[in-house]
Amino acid sequence: MTSTHEQSPKTAVVTGASTGIGEATARMLAHRGWTVYAVARRADRLEALAEGTGNIVAVPADITEDDDVARLLATATQGGGIDTLVNIAGGARGVDHIADAKTADWEWMYRVNVLGTMKVTRAFLPMLRAHGEGTILNLTSTAGLAGYEGGAGYNAAKFAERGMTQALRLEEVGNNIRVIEVLPGLVHTEEFSLNRLGDRSAAEKVYAGVEKPLTADDVAEVVVHSVALPHHVNLDEIVIRPVAQAANHKIIRSS
Ligand code: NAP
Repeated sequence: MTSTHEQSPKTAVVTGASTGIGEATARMLAHRGWTVYAVARRADRLEALAEGTGNIVAVPADITEDDDVARLLATATQGGGIDTLVNIAGGARGVDHIADAKTADWEWMYRVNVLGTMKVTRAFLPMLRAHGEGTILNLTSTAGLAGYEGGAGYNAAKFAERGMTQALRLEEVGNNIRVIEVLPGLVHTEEFSLNRLGDRSAAEKVYAGVEKPLTADDVAEVVVHSVALPHHVNLDEIVIRPVAQAANHKIIRSS
């Protein structure tokens, strides 16, 4: 899926770039000539991603920490600024029903998906307004469209991130900032379900029998396409699922 109207050269911050969808997005943008500030907490993985590319800058940072976000902004400013912010860092912890909800899991999910995304966005808004053709893409989830049993904490965080994204689009349209939301369904990444469930065999069951779940590259392709389109074209909200997943609760699995 390659745009015939790509603008160049462009510069993005991509959060969550140490693995999964964020890493695939950073790599794909860089491959297509963008300068990318790659953000996550694990410096070693970011360094490995940046090594030898010449257009990926590793910026180890925790997006929930104000000092780290300020340092990220300073690094991007010194480098000449950005026109595109891609908020991908996030995740899920636990599948407990509300009756057994673990407050720490809920707090973690709200802090990263909602407050972290808000903090990075708030920091870069003045730069994106000044640019005149800014873009912000928030990677939420189909978990932000409908609740499911065992999903409440993640649903609540992604509904919140989605609500924030909708408000942002309204608030910043007068500043010509394009706000895109990408909502993936089942994506088989290395760490997402492992971090959510705590062990490898439980994580693999999430994808068991699904012939072709989405991959990080599938989602990155959609993200990259949407931010590379001419700035007046806004894909706005994009739901992306594997064909085998007709809805959150309807997944075809071979037995
Ligand atoms: P993942 O493999 O678990 O990657 C999450 C990324 O977020 C990592 O790079 C992680 O890096 C980073 N991160 C977490 N906390 C952070 C923090 N406090 N500060 C900075 N970076 C932080 O997840 P994924 O599967 O690629 O998913 C990426 C996004 O898509 C998430 O928002 C997720 O909720 C959403 N999503 C995933 C799926 C799915 O099925 N996989 C479906 C729909 C939506 P460090 O650990 O190095 O900090």
